[in-house]
Amino acid sequence: MAMELTTRFRSFHRLFQKPLGIVSYQRCSHTVPKENPNPDLLNSFNQDIKAGGVVPVFRRALLFPSRVAVQDEQGSYTYAGLYQAANELSQDIAAQLLGEKERTISYMCGNNASHIIVQWAIWMTGNIAVPLTPIHPPDMLKYFISDSDSSLIICTQEHEDLLRPIVQEFSKPLLVSNRVKNDKEDIPDSWKPEAGLSEAGPNNRWYGGKDAMLIYTSGTTSKPKGVVWTHSMLSTQIAALHTAWQYSAHDVVLHTLPLHHIHGQLNSLNASLAAGAKVRMLASFASHAVWAQLVGAAEARVSVFHGVPAMYARLAADHANMFTDDKTKEYVRSTLSKMRLMCAGSAPLPETLFNKWEEISGIRLLERYGMSEVGMALSNPYRPAGARAVGRVGAPLPGVAARIALAAGARLEPLLTVDCDVPDTQINLDRLGFTKNTPEENNWKPAKVTVHKESENGVYEGELLLKGPNVFTRYWNRAPSLTSSDFTEDGWFRTGDIASYSEGSFRIMGRSSVDIIKTSGYKVSALQVESAILEHPNIADAAVLGIEDENYGEIIASVVVTKDKKEITLKELREVAGKKLAPYQLPRTLLVVETMPRNVMGKLDKKEIKRLFGKQLVYKKS
Ligand code: AMP
Repeated sequence: MAMELTTRFRSFHRLFQKPLGIVSYQRCSHTVPKENPNPDLLNSFNQDIKAGGVVPVFRRALLFPSRVAVQDEQGSYTYAGLYQAANELSQDIAAQLLGEKERTISYMCGNNASHIIVQWAIWMTGNIAVPLTPIHPPDMLKYFISDSDSSLIICTQEHEDLLRPIVQEFSKPLLVSNRVKNDKEDIPDSWKPEAGLSEAGPNNRWYGGKDAMLIYTSGTTSKPKGVVWTHSMLSTQIAALHTAWQYSAHDVVLHTLPLHHIHGQLNSLNASLAAGAKVRMLASFASHAVWAQLVGAAEARVSVFHGVPAMYARLAADHANMFTDDKTKEYVRSTLSKMRLMCAGSAPLPETLFNKWEEISGIRLLERYGMSEVGMALSNPYRPAGARAVGRVGAPLPGVAARIALAAGARLEPLLTVDCDVPDTQINLDRLGFTKNTPEENNWKPAKVTVHKESENGVYEGELLLKGPNVFTRYWNRAPSLTSSDFTEDGWFRTGDIASYSEGSFRIMGRSSVDIIKTSGYKVSALQVESAILEHPNIADAAVLGIEDENYGEIIASVVVTKDKKEITLKELREVAGKKLAPYQLPRTLLVVETMPRNVMGKLDKKEIKRLFGKQLVYKKS
């Protein structure tokens, strides 16, 4: 029987319909209003956590209901407003699924409050959230819906045309909604925290052992896999980021990242909401709109930004065009330098960009390393900012053990392990800045280093392995994987990245599958070559890859985009890059292209680059 159960629920409809209006953030304030979090509630939450439970992100809202949680392009929501909207929607979801729990629900919303409301509603019904993005083509969406075996699909109205044919093909129910007016920052009249508490969702102990969401990998080498994020993994990650980067209720976080990816889900959204911060959501990353948020009117300014390097590159390029005189540049710099935190990651941050951003803003970007499977794993220090090192990704975050290992026959031989204590997952309002104006200083304990096999030069290089409560244990719909090739026999996750460790921090050399080029008996990191090539003043973007060659094994090939279509020769490129690299690391071929294939996260798509340009990159000895 066809199950075309398209339903337009009244409450959902009413809650989402907002007028499209001029963006106005006047009410934004950087000071934490007098909030008296209910001490009994806080106590009972922390008791539950001690007993192995997890307080899901939506439930933390009950600690700070009257604070503004989200401002998007159509209005704003308090934590209570979001909670209430999600609670109403959760009743519709429960009715649709006849009260069943632990089912997967795919959903597609804009990057705005509706995303949070749907996600919280899914969690309130004890189900598993699978975020989708309209950027993916229909075939991929079909794959995600069928691989996750979603029992229900939810979307806002603007995505209905895209999803309807897909759900019809799969005979799945679809819940569609409009956005509706709710632009009050006041707590709703009908708000009853006690009622909300007993109504919305199973108890905290139940969440302790349950799955929260699936994050699909970008699938550069195989089909995307659904990484199972449990509520417990999410709460450990949140505690780790709160500890290391000192999230606080004072933060105003600018969110422009896609929400089907862990970077946008964790760093910008869930960790911020769990801290009682204010999240300012833009529909997507648009450099001019971001600049307006960074240097706009003082009362509307943001204090935290998480971006991928491609975003900072775009912002830096526009900075050069938008702010031409020295006085304006100085104003921009002094304004930006007041930001509490600007982070970069998900792809390598080139040295030129790190330096350029410091020149523009006075801020040393905090580069960190993460993955869909492990959330955030390694990070440069938050304090002192001067210790943030260019080209490095720092040390393990709380709860993470990182290991460098080398293949020795069929097994991996550990060279060195660096691990950091598990973070305290109890909710501490002092640390979040509720009771003091500044959060507590540095709770991120130094990591412990264990050397398994001494290196003569103090540099340890090999495959990066990770372990800890922050690390996933299985992909959805695949055999339990602690016994698969994704993990070592003793439970370490094999990241597939090659890294080196020296002097207290890690450096990422690249994916072992595409970024480690074996040429003339040397192993060369494509990431290091890309970073050096970008030192050339005429180069805007660069990708380096290995191309098979009968004499050298592989040759180092470079594909570049030049600034303003300027010309460049291989000789010039080698001269500039040669200041940073050894001769065997220099590219032997060069191809100038107009645009560089990158995925939706702004990462170089090396598979596509090779497919498009591989034939033109063959080395001919002159
Ligand atoms: P994803 O699962 O899409 O977040 O991709 C994770 C991959 O991105 C990692 O395995 C690394 O190859 C890469 N990556 C993440 N952060 C960094 C970084 N700071 N530097 C270099 N590569 C990174």
